[in-house]
Amino acid sequence: MQVPPFSLDQQLSEIGEDIKSSVLNVLSSGNYIGGEEVKKFESSFAEKTGVKHVIGCNSGTDALILALRALNIGPGDEVITPSFSFFATAEAISNVGAKPVFVDTDPANYLVDLNLLQQAVTQSTKAVLPVHLFGRPVDMDQIMSFAKRNEIKVIEDCAQAAGSEWGGKPVGSIGDIGCFSFFPTKNLGAAGDGGAVTTNDENLATAIRQLAVHGMPRRYFHTQLGYNSRLDAIQAAVLNVKLEHLFKWVIKRTEIAKRYHQLLKDIPGIILPEFSQNHTHINSWNQFVVRVQSSILDKAIINQDVNKQPIINNINLPNSSSRDWLKQTLSEYGVNTIIYYPIPIHLQPVYQKLGNKINSLPNTEILCSEVLSLPIFPELSIEQQDYVVNAIKQSIQKASLI
Ligand SMILES: *Cc1c(COP(=O)(O)O)cnc(C)c1O
Repeated sequence: MQVPPFSLDQQLSEIGEDIKSSVLNVLSSGNYIGGEEVKKFESSFAEKTGVKHVIGCNSGTDALILALRALNIGPGDEVITPSFSFFATAEAISNVGAKPVFVDTDPANYLVDLNLLQQAVTQSTKAVLPVHLFGRPVDMDQIMSFAKRNEIKVIEDCAQAAGSEWGGKPVGSIGDIGCFSFFPTKNLGAAGDGGAVTTNDENLATAIRQLAVHGMPRRYFHTQLGYNSRLDAIQAAVLNVKLEHLFKWVIKRTEIAKRYHQLLKDIPGIILPEFSQNHTHINSWNQFVVRVQSSILDKAIINQDVNKQPIINNINLPNSSSRDWLKQTLSEYGVNTIIYYPIPIHLQPVYQKLGNKINSLPNTEILCSEVLSLPIFPELSIEQQDYVVNAIKQSIQKASLI
């Protein structure tokens, strides 16, 4: 059996016809930029997210850039953000000319360590940019009181968290601005790139809308340098069909996560992500990420160079041999996993080039050497999931016999 980390095959066979007719409508309407489908998507997504304004744009990365620009964040400013995320989070901050100030990770939930936020604040801090990584919402009560205390703004990176909630409120509706991605592997995926910005603030919404279209409040009249970043009508047509299924899909993802939890508990060396039944938050489970502890597979990797410690920017990274070994062994069973993310952002070569002071963020570095994302998507079958679980069990057993 082959189990992919992610697949759209079954989803397409269920809703492919609806998507086709929606896309064909756009094609025959001739309205390829803006138009009814985009308007409809913006208003339905606003309703589902519980915000007043949604502005469609070209990608999640653009959503972050538009949010930062709308808050007048630029050169000389600092934005506090986790190092454990997809690179785009920090890239957006750097691309507007500001400086990302990286904070270490809480290994219990893979999210920014809330206890380290205050010490990252300087006179230049303008905003905090938490990431609801893998679909798990950050504690927004704490983020909001931290931001209020320090008089800074909050931009939520919701790229992986469509369908997640904190304290009964959808992510993206709590901070000043929320940024979503519709990259095909996200919870709500387009048939290409797409993104959206959410806010309850009318002035910010206006600023974002203008920035997304060349800084143009009215046609051919430009008050600032903006971007060409629109949600395509064809993508909006796809998203309008899929949005109706989002919450059902989140429930399926949650069932899969729950089942992984039951079936994988008590495996030595494998640490599972918290499966909290806590009603204050809804995790939309964009990824199910386990940690493969470095010690446990020592026997299996005895023939490999266990002392092989990668060094980046003079920082010795923790050894990832056990995780890499498990990933390889699972692939021999046909179980395909992904590493989100192998290298912390603060150690990416570009940040050394940009002259950032490079400090070690030990928890992030350990996580990057241990994390492994198991296959999860709403249509993953019980048989496929059982196969994944057995492959993991057999691999670990093999490791302890070697
Ligand atoms: C995917 C992602 C982005 C960027 O979204 P794109 O649509 O690919 O530009 C930003 N932040 C996080 C956490 C992501 O996962």
